[in-house]
Amino acid sequence: MTAQVLDGKAIAAVVRGEVKERAEAFAAKYGRRAGLHVVLVGDDPASQVYVRNKEMAAGKAGLAGQVHRLPADTSQAELEALVEKLNADPAIDGILVQLPLPAGLDAQPVLDRLAPEKDVDGLTPMSAGLLLDGRPGLRPCTPSGCMRLLREAGLDDLSGKRAIVIGRSLLVGKPIALMLLAKNATVTMAHSRTANLAEECARADIVVAAVGRAELVKREWIREGAVVIDVGINRGDDGKLVGDVAYAECAERASWITPVPGGVGPMTIAMLLDNTVAAAERREAAKA
Ligand code: NAD
Repeated sequence: MTAQVLDGKAIAAVVRGEVKERAEAFAAKYGRRAGLHVVLVGDDPASQVYVRNKEMAAGKAGLAGQVHRLPADTSQAELEALVEKLNADPAIDGILVQLPLPAGLDAQPVLDRLAPEKDVDGLTPMSAGLLLDGRPGLRPCTPSGCMRLLREAGLDDLSGKRAIVIGRSLLVGKPIALMLLAKNATVTMAHSRTANLAEECARADIVVAAVGRAELVKREWIREGAVVIDVGINRGDDGKLVGDVAYAECAERASWITPVPGGVGPMTIAMLLDNTVAAAERREAAKA
């Protein structure tokens, strides 16, 4: 079998188009634009690029908003005070604190303060709890993007399917596993201490790799016809980006596979925009 490519770039463009339509309808109905505010502390070059991309995408999708750029020597109290201020501003629907924070700042108390209804990154303990409980809430963006990709591959109800998630981070692995479970998959969570990872993986109908190890997942790990979602972003020896999956050889066995770049990556920002417009709609509906 040769896999069909799950084209994240194209699917993200569809999601961004949907968001734009909803954002325009929201603005027409409520007389204001849905607002996304991003907090960026310090001058980490990668974070600056990510934030600029989010800013541009938000503008194109018809969202209002602002980036709050704070110096690296911002105190914990100043950062938490800004989050409280954004929480209290009725024109702001989504707040995202770009991580990682510079050394000396602790992300957890900042996230603990963030209003759950504005948590468009889906990373607060409340959002995590709602996901665990299967209740509506704002879900983390990269895992949501993976689920949307699966839907595009024709996999919505996962009853009877075996899924494996490799990686157990709070940002990616754990939430994806819970989302797959919510769609009725039988889920294995694998990680750095898992024994016989290749055999575990070879049983799965759906493989999600979120590890951060270049081309860890090999051809023999992939069951014929499996769907492969590669979250990993690694810089190869030649400077090129590669995923956690050995793409060419695994594509010979999979039915669907995401490339790196151009797979999960573009979905993350699209789902952030989707979360922002959803948060705005939900906040206005709660007032009615
Ligand atoms: P992390 O370092 O927090 O977690 C990695 C996980 O992989 C850990 O749970 C660990 O147990 C597991 N692991 C490590 N080595 C392993 C091995 N040899 N075998 C099996 N499991 C192993 O990383 P993260 O934040 O979850 O990110 C994972 C990857 O996804 C990274 O490459 C990151 O750059 C990428 N990522 C991509 C996006 C995107 O938008 N596409 C978003 C977030 C993260």
